[in-house]
Amino acid sequence: MSKVRLRFAPSPTGPLHIGGLRTALYNYLIAKRLDGSFILRIEDTDQKRFNKNAEKHILDSLLWCKILPDESPISPGKFGPYRQSERKEIYKNYVDKLIDQGKAYYAFDDVEELNLLRKAHEKKGETFIYNWENRKDLKNSISLSDKETKVNLDNGNYVIRFNSFQEKSENEFIVFHDEIRGEIKVDLKLLDDKIIFKNDGMPTYHLANVVDDHLMEISHVVRGEEWLPSLALHHLLYEAFNWEKPIFAHLPLILKPTGKGKLSKRDGEKFGIPVYPIEWQENKNLSYLGFREIGFEIDAFVNFISMIGWNPGTEDEIFSLKELVNNFDIKRIIKSGAKYDYEKAKWFNLEHLKRIETESLKVEFSNLILDRIDNFLNTNKINKLIELTKERINFKNDLVDEACHILDYDSNKMKENLSKINLNEDIIKLINFFKNTVGNEIELNNLKEDYFNEMKNLNIKVGDGMKSLRLCLTSQLNGADLFTIIDILNKKTINTRLENSLKIMYDKIRNN
Ligand code: GLU
Repeated sequence: MSKVRLRFAPSPTGPLHIGGLRTALYNYLIAKRLDGSFILRIEDTDQKRFNKNAEKHILDSLLWCKILPDESPISPGKFGPYRQSERKEIYKNYVDKLIDQGKAYYAFDDVEELNLLRKAHEKKGETFIYNWENRKDLKNSISLSDKETKVNLDNGNYVIRFNSFQEKSENEFIVFHDEIRGEIKVDLKLLDDKIIFKNDGMPTYHLANVVDDHLMEISHVVRGEEWLPSLALHHLLYEAFNWEKPIFAHLPLILKPTGKGKLSKRDGEKFGIPVYPIEWQENKNLSYLGFREIGFEIDAFVNFISMIGWNPGTEDEIFSLKELVNNFDIKRIIKSGAKYDYEKAKWFNLEHLKRIETESLKVEFSNLILDRIDNFLNTNKINKLIELTKERINFKNDLVDEACHILDYDSNKMKENLSKINLNEDIIKLINFFKNTVGNEIELNNLKEDYFNEMKNLNIKVGDGMKSLRLCLTSQLNGADLFTIIDILNKKTINTRLENSLKIMYDKIRNN
């Protein structure tokens, strides 16, 4: 096989959303898996829908996700330029070739008149298609004489259409292969003669896309399902130029969280979920947070995106970008639409947090934790605290708050929660026992064993005994592993809390 080259070819009409990012990611993964190159090409032929901030948003998003192009407008290789607006001159030659060979023609139809025709067809419940059946009745270089054509051309008001089917052609069908969908057969008689060149001197998407994929030696075209209807035309263009075709793969839709319908940018607001990798500033007063700003780990976010429409075929779900490269297989991309599940995104984040070395979290967060709770902490045990905490948070930024929360104690809360346990003299005895033992017992395991034995002696259920101790030490009724908390708190804090809690318990029993 010749060199593997894949491209992501977004149109800079707005921010890059997760659908576009997934396309970029899959292209990147396939390219890297096959030792190939990943190229970013900006398809900015549609001047009307151009958004001047979009390219930066696309680039910054890729950069944040570490999906780095080998060639792009800002890191050009030898196939440049990488913005279609800078390749304008290239396309004219190719469209001229098609005209010379009768595979494309000039059309001079008035836009208004075409709209009227469209409406008239709609009224009859039909769709107007500009093609082999009616092109001879419309205003173009096929129906008009050479002289009339020249006059119209001199006026400069024309578009160029592709001649997609010729009456009485041998082949009425085109059959092609898609890596995800298999064999596809299209009736050529139903295709319209798409505009491939506009009178602003710019090609349309179809021509520019095919010409660039050929000139940039793209080996695989991997893109969203919405481009599947254009595939027949693209095949015809390759054939018209007599060029070798790339491999094609059309990715399934990303569906709304409800599973019904395609996810749209507006769904972000509607469901209160992020749809952009990084923040997008819509205008001076309106901006949307991205996954980055919410606090997602890059690897977790990329892993989440990778799984919308793909799976490795095993139970494994957690992958770093590098691991994805090693495992990604185009054959395992699914055909049907895949739901965007934000809860799953948070789960991926949690799983990736667990993978972060405690030591590196310690470097990042221990000062912040100590600033807030060093008076409670057995400072040798900060690692243990971080380990305990990182299992319990969705986002890294919650680490400090959660760590403090785990070690928290509040008398009022303790009083409030006291009514929820079965308080009696024996419970007080048990807590007193713990208070006396904790001072002497150095080994955590022995302490635990002693406490469990005492529960047995006093005939107290494990659930009641543990809840009571937790309440006395943290003022809460459930939470992280209690004996780990006991290990993390310093002795002085344990003592003070127990004394305070015991006092509250005595008072309550006495007043009852
Ligand atoms: N410019 C097209 C887009 O915005 C690219 C489609 C393709 O990859 O061929 O999605």
